Amino acid sequence: MKTVSFGIANYCIPCHAHCRYCLLSSCGKSTGVEQKTGMAFAERVMQELSEARSDLTTNYYCGYCMDMPELPEYIRFCREHHSPGAKFLQMNGFAFRNGQELRNLMNTVRENGVELIDLTFFGTEEYHDRFAGRQGDFRFLTEMLDASKEAELPVNVSIPLLRENLGQMPELHRMLSEKGVSRFSFFLPHSKGRGKTVQDQRITRQEFDALQEEIRNAFARVRHMTEAEWLSSGEIADPEKRNLTLVLTPGNMERLNTMPAADVLNELESMDDRYLREMPSARELAERYGDPANQQLFRLRDLLLKWQQQYIADTGNILYDMHDETHHFSVHL
Ligand code: SF4
Repeated sequence: MKTVSFGIANYCIPCHAHCRYCLLSSCGKSTGVEQKTGMAFAERVMQELSEARSDLTTNYYCGYCMDMPELPEYIRFCREHHSPGAKFLQMNGFAFRNGQELRNLMNTVRENGVELIDLTFFGTEEYHDRFAGRQGDFRFLTEMLDASKEAELPVNVSIPLLRENLGQMPELHRMLSEKGVSRFSFFLPHSKGRGKTVQDQRITRQEFDALQEEIRNAFARVRHMTEAEWLSSGEIADPEKRNLTLVLTPGNMERLNTMPAADVLNELESMDDRYLREMPSARELAERYGDPANQQLFRLRDLLLKWQQQYIADTGNILYDMHDETHHFSVHL
């Protein structure tokens, strides 16, 4: 298995939303380390790895949301290290602000070089607020849209497609288009973290095909097929590459600070190698758990994840779930 990227995540910024599908299982608190400590560690590790493993992409990113006083410093750090956060920010979960404060925020973001922000809507107002776990979140996001327009900061609106929000899509799409949104990305939720609780909301091909053309055209470009189609495609195979993530916590920071970067990476790779040794192959999982009648749509990553989660549950959860992003170490397919 080839490691292609190594990310360092620091979930040091409490998020003000509580989304039902949060893949980070955000709990409204910080679980990371101080921003300065995280950046200093990332700086050292990324520098050491750029010399020892130049084949790797490395980055440092913060969560749970971007609502931090050090935002300009964070953007600068990302720019210096060619990380995506220099140009793109996901901006859900901010504390409520008034119009002037929002304009200041968007101006700061643009002046620091960010070229695109993303705001995620879950449906029309009442549904969105329930899904986001806070009253007023929908209205606040529309105010963020207005403020970013004034600051001439381009916005992409992401919208997860769920069985229960499909009927709201025409109205939501129309309302946001009238507000001047021209970039939309529709996607199917990832089933990690609290995303596991919305697995029954995964849509079928028939439901997808019944959507308006504008929505289908703005759907994620990654290949999606039904579980039935994947099973008969002969294309189920284990991934050949992996992206590893190290999550900084107050509990592991002291030890990590004493370790050379190569050792940190080796430790993560060894953990994932063990996970892969203990986990049956993709084909074995397909034979064991594949449902040839299932018409729900998946990208292969999510289907493999669903089967792996079933295997972990069946074997009594003794296998460390390398795909759980709340763990100190994780891997993304
Ligand atoms: S805004 Fe993001 S981090 Fe916060 S709860 Fe929602 S999905 Fe999770």
